[in-house]
Amino acid sequence: MSNWPCNYEDSWTISGVVSRKGIGLHTGEMAEVHLLPSRKAGLHVSWVDDIYPPVTLSPCQVRPSQLCTTLEIGQRRLLTVEHLLAAIAGCGISHLEIQVLGNEIPLLDGSSQDWVNAIAEIGLTQAETPRIKPPEVTQGLLCNRGEGVITATPSERFSLIGVIDFPQKAIGRQIMKIELTPDSFVKEIAPARTFGFLDQVEELRAAGLIKGGCLENALLCDGDQWLNPPLRFSNEPVRHKLLDLIGDLALVGFPKAQVLVYRGSHGLHTDLANALFSIPSVSGP
Ligand SMILES: [Zn+2]
Repeated sequence: MSNWPCNYEDSWTISGVVSRKGIGLHTGEMAEVHLLPSRKAGLHVSWVDDIYPPVTLSPCQVRPSQLCTTLEIGQRRLLTVEHLLAAIAGCGISHLEIQVLGNEIPLLDGSSQDWVNAIAEIGLTQAETPRIKPPEVTQGLLCNRGEGVITATPSERFSLIGVIDFPQKAIGRQIMKIELTPDSFVKEIAPARTFGFLDQVEELRAAGLIKGGCLENALLCDGDQWLNPPLRFSNEPVRHKLLDLIGDLALVGFPKAQVLVYRGSHGLHTDLANALFSIPSVSGP
């Protein structure tokens, strides 16, 4: 599929069912995801192994952690949703059912690329009902956590500026600005992979995390160098940070705003998502 929607205003779902399976980053367990067309606006999650109807996702279900974004859906938790949600919303899909077998979304290659490929395989169809309106940003919003800051200011279009600043020379300071459209998302953001640091691997494994992490699904940095080059972009890390931000804003919708994030984290992204969600006009569908 080469013709992506030209903006985030029309309603789109997928033309059929498409599936992917793979290992979850933190659980290390095999999981399976089926993407299904939906008549109802929004994103809805159902489980292959239970009988309950799909649950419509909302920013209220988001539980950020240091390393991934988790959804609390009724009694169940779904880990590491951000790269899938980024792909869905980034490609312009507004109506979709996500059917899951397992407790974590597969990491695949550590980016949104395989999800975009899955969506491109099956194609998009215009949905019959309007999409859920994104928040209207009429004045600046600012959230901060530690050294991280995120702002949203009114703008004609949805644009993002990411700034990262790492002491490791292989990464250093990187800045990326992008006006987001389905096309620019697919080309500039979706292929950017997650990254980690060699000296943190032991600690994270000891804490029971990243059981499914390996050199095939994450870029690994050892100070001055990357252990598994080549990079897909010279500034792949900051692009991946924007990918995570897009995933974390997916449930609230993309506002006409310029969002600037300095030293972003899932917690900081979620703070902005909550601030956007509490703007009165968007509290309901
Ligand atoms: Zn990520």
